[in-house]
Amino acid sequence: MPDLRVDGARFWDTVMRSGEIGPGKAGGLRRLALTDADKEMRDLFVTWCTEAGCTVTIDRVGNVFARRPGSDDHLPPVLIGSHLDTQVAGGKYDGIVGVLAGLEILRSLDQHRVRTKRPLELVCWTNEEGARFTPPMVASGAFASVFDVDWVLALRDDDGKVFGDELKRIGYDGKTDVGGRGIDAYFELHIEQGPILDKETVPVGIVTGGYAVRGMHVDVHGETAHAGPTPMDKRRNALIGASMLAVAVNDVGWKYHDTEGKATVPRIVAWPNKAGILSEYAQITCDVRHADAATADRMWAEIKAAMADCAKRANVELRVASEWRFGSERFDPSCIRLIREAAQQLGVPHRDILSQAGHDAYYISRIAPTAMIFTPCRDGISHNEAEHAERDQTVPGVNVLLHAVLGRADR
Ligand SMILES: [Zn+2]
Repeated sequence: MPDLRVDGARFWDTVMRSGEIGPGKAGGLRRLALTDADKEMRDLFVTWCTEAGCTVTIDRVGNVFARRPGSDDHLPPVLIGSHLDTQVAGGKYDGIVGVLAGLEILRSLDQHRVRTKRPLELVCWTNEEGARFTPPMVASGAFASVFDVDWVLALRDDDGKVFGDELKRIGYDGKTDVGGRGIDAYFELHIEQGPILDKETVPVGIVTGGYAVRGMHVDVHGETAHAGPTPMDKRRNALIGASMLAVAVNDVGWKYHDTEGKATVPRIVAWPNKAGILSEYAQITCDVRHADAATADRMWAEIKAAMADCAKRANVELRVASEWRFGSERFDPSCIRLIREAAQQLGVPHRDILSQAGHDAYYISRIAPTAMIFTPCRDGISHNEAEHAERDQTVPGVNVLLHAVLGRADR
């Protein structure tokens, strides 16, 4: 089947249709996990998969699997997937092109009456972004036994709504066990979310691994008091403790800037967060990223060490509430080779690349051979409604994915 190609126009139609569901304010998407918009997208996705002849199952954390049988159907499946949820002000392509590339591959195989030896499964992972329920990638993490299912179901959003309740509300509280079954391999196509491929006009990045990421939520405990009469030396303002840590994290990022290290504070919440009163509670989220895992560990140790000083200066308590780490994984050499060979056979220009963002593929790589393909996005802009990808720059990656998947499923 060396001549087999996906239908680029049909693929792009699905991307554009998805781009109508959960519109943002500036031409992008606001399709947070387990909202009505997410439900509408999921319903459409399930319809598309069913029409493509797949059997759809949903697991307890809402991951959707569309299965296409193989000729040796008892063999473990080859998985293709990504996510359909978006950031608060997200684009139409992040995650979405990966899921819909998988759908287009299933459609193309049907159209050309190609039966693979191993079954194929297309998966949409729940709440990849972590924009509504943090941390990110909880559902692929649960699938890979990184997170406990009940812990995921008990996560709360900023309004106190519970993950499990919201899943039920939109009708995606599936009954299937989460993970715990054999997976032959996992392939994920994703926009790069960085500027390299766009700048070099190379349509395919072969992701060899990721930047090491270490992240945490830190709870800060202080005491409410009147903002007027309370003397400075009696104050225990949790917001100040969190803010001091925010500055310390940012300083660590600058310290490692020369080697492209990054340290980020994306979020602080404080309570009661009102004028006239000191905060008794705050929570701060932070992470570090570096291509070298040992350096990421060093950055992380420096931030941990800074916590004691912040606590002392603000006269509050700082406690790590939860911690996560990913990205040190290296993807599977045999899956990477399949992608490289497919790109060469199809004459698609390609280069090796490291991912600086988090992806479901990291967690899945802990339980199955995994590889990723990056496709370009304009100026590397992502997590922004201005995110943009071109059909003609994306379709070559989908064809590479198709042939890598076929190579794996038929071996
Ligand atoms: Zn994504």
